Amino acid sequence: MNKKTALITGASRGIGKAIATLFAENGYNVLINYNNSEKEALDLYNELKSRGFAVDTYKADVSKKEEVNLMVNYCIGQFEGIDVLVNNAGISKTNLFTDISYEEWDEVISTNLNSVFYTTKKALQYMIPQMSGKIINISSIWGMVGGSYEVHYSTSKAAIIGMSKALAKELGPSNIQVNCIAPGVIQTDMLDNIEDDALEALRQETPLMRLGTVEDIANCALFLASDKSNFITGQVISPNGGFVIV
Ligand code: NAP
Repeated sequence: MNKKTALITGASRGIGKAIATLFAENGYNVLINYNNSEKEALDLYNELKSRGFAVDTYKADVSKKEEVNLMVNYCIGQFEGIDVLVNNAGISKTNLFTDISYEEWDEVISTNLNSVFYTTKKALQYMIPQMSGKIINISSIWGMVGGSYEVHYSTSKAAIIGMSKALAKELGPSNIQVNCIAPGVIQTDMLDNIEDDALEALRQETPLMRLGTVEDIANCALFLASDKSNFITGQVISPNGGFVIV
């Protein structure tokens, strides 16, 4: 078992919660970031703590750089370092491009994209001197192929891919790997506003004939955090059941 530390943003629910759980089960110290879902975050903390795992929680809105800076400092103070950063926190909004307000655009871009800049910039203050680190950014298939009615969301997720590729080149000599996971349709609260028949249509369009689970994504993140992926950087791995094949 290793004693590495992982900071997972947006770990109160959904994919982030599954990543936090799997990382704790695999020996990582885990900082569970949440923003609004305090009860869910504390329930997860209590469950993992009762199983003997080294976890902690931190409330921070990742779209605010001051809160992010305090969170990363807290992580380093609490666990004496940061080895893995999983930028998972995100929101999705559905709207016709012409109906997207300036406020809605800013909210999606600041939560999904600026947050990745803030967390990564701060974590690198520690990772570059230690000459190691893994940064895992959660993008989306819609960042790869574009989703109609989700131009702001698709833009934020495509930008994360561009950022990861460029940063991977810059950070390679510092032995820091930067990769993206671009999930397909994964069963979480994020799908709450999608009708059942639309979800069924998505399932039928998926070669593997099912929607994804949070564990499908967590397993991928665990691999990218591990030494088994040390020669992989600047890549996009898309667990999507074959829904998107490029
Ligand atoms: P989810 O169930 O809605 O969970 C979203 C998580 O993000 C929550 O823990 C939420 O925390 C956190 N979050 C949102 N805004 C935040 C903020 N400002 N500061 C801190 N945390 C914030 O969504 P999910 O499906 O697990 O999505 C996780 C990631 O996967 C997102 O980046 C999403 O875009 C991506 N993704 C999802 C799918 C899918 O089909 N589900 C597909 C592709 C990509 P609080 O509730 O505590 O605020």
